[in-house]
Amino acid sequence: GKYTREDILRLVREEDIQFIRMQFTDIFGQMKNVAITASQIEKALDNQIMMDGSSIEGFVRIEESDQYLWPDLDTFAILPWRPQYGKVARLICDVHNPDGTPFVGDPRGVLKRALARAGEMGLTFNAGPELEFFLFQTDEDGRPTTKTSDEAGYFDLGPLDHGESTRREICLCLEEMGFEIEASHHEVAAGQHEIDFKYTEALQAADNIMTFKLAVKTLAQKNGLHATFMPKPVCGAAGSGMHVNMSLFRDGQNAFYDPADPRKLSLLAYQFIAGLLDHVQGFCAVTNPLVNSYKRLVPGYEAPCHLAWSTGNRSALIRIPTPRGAGTRVELRSPDPSCNPYLAFAVCLAAGLDGIQRRLTPPAENNENLYAIAADLEAQGVRRLPASLEAAIHALEADSVVTAALGEHVTNQYVTGKLREWEQYRAQVTQWELDQYLVTC
Ligand code: GLN
Ligand code: MG
Ligand code: MG
Ligand code: MG
Repeated sequence: GKYTREDILRLVREEDIQFIRMQFTDIFGQMKNVAITASQIEKALDNQIMMDGSSIEGFVRIEESDQYLWPDLDTFAILPWRPQYGKVARLICDVHNPDGTPFVGDPRGVLKRALARAGEMGLTFNAGPELEFFLFQTDEDGRPTTKTSDEAGYFDLGPLDHGESTRREICLCLEEMGFEIEASHHEVAAGQHEIDFKYTEALQAADNIMTFKLAVKTLAQKNGLHATFMPKPVCGAAGSGMHVNMSLFRDGQNAFYDPADPRKLSLLAYQFIAGLLDHVQGFCAVTNPLVNSYKRLVPGYEAPCHLAWSTGNRSALIRIPTPRGAGTRVELRSPDPSCNPYLAFAVCLAAGLDGIQRRLTPPAENNENLYAIAADLEAQGVRRLPASLEAAIHALEADSVVTAALGEHVTNQYVTGKLREWEQYRAQVTQWELDQYLVTC
């Protein structure tokens, strides 16, 4: 590991740290934390910090509610946006039962289990996520709006780009926290941005996503803006995706690379792609968890609709970016940044590993603009991503590889919670319906 217990105790003293935030994530992807003062750090490192699991969505029943937070020492970091005298640090934690066993409903534990399965096959799993988000203005009362004064588009720069200085601050803060920021730029829609950090082993990548979202939201607020990772905040404009670049390594070598193949992809890479295609409908409720997620997955906005893969084409669900060698990877373009990254990586990995174990072959690649030939694809019987959260939940229930990766507890809690969300939405009367029907009926 990066830090020992002694390192942490020394850092808390030397860095003048007053508070430590013990963080974890609920099954729907919300970060939670309890702050302790520096005087409690030894107790925290002894895994003695307790919490009431019955108050966390999707965790446990009130009768069995004591749970313990076991900090992962390597996640120790100082929060650069908090005061620099009497600093605040954080530790990301695993959730355990009173008897010391890992809690089956802890999303970080779900990912660890999936990674252990890859480990048994001699493989490690890397993920490089690309998160997109909007920076919106707030109103006089400080409430978020969907307004932006920014009129910039893809790769534009200031003075058109009104988010430039906020983005700069986010990048600098994340670098202070140990992120390697590879690129940041304005995205296609007005007010939309993307910041990319370097791929890592998947557990750290999921931790990084949680940290990233917190940093973006916090620093936007400091700049008087509201940051949102909502997948489709504005009808008629591009939505926000979270492309995930994935690779498997064996003995420190990229196992997706094979210089002898015409595309320089290994058999393992093809099988992994085939596994993703086989289960993407089943895991969509995890990678695209909101009612709103399905409004992004429509033609015309560089978000995927049909199940196809390609080496070039950005309308495909899976794209193979140009780099080869150690950088060989599969880019899954369906996930959005509202997902729980631990669960999302766990189900993607399980899907890919299933493709490897069953030696699946992917269909031929499709290099056409799929939006333009949507009708042909339908005629050819090319499958589509689920059209709604409801359809996605039912597809999840029917996919035993996905439900096994999540485990029974998470599957049940997740399905129940998401069906409730769907039923609430179904009962709404929207502005679109009023515009469409009020006069004509
Ligand atoms: N915003 C697009 C999406 O929804 C992606 C655009 C891009 O990165 N080229 O996935
Ligand atoms: Mg990108
Ligand atoms: Mg992008
Ligand atoms: Mg991308």
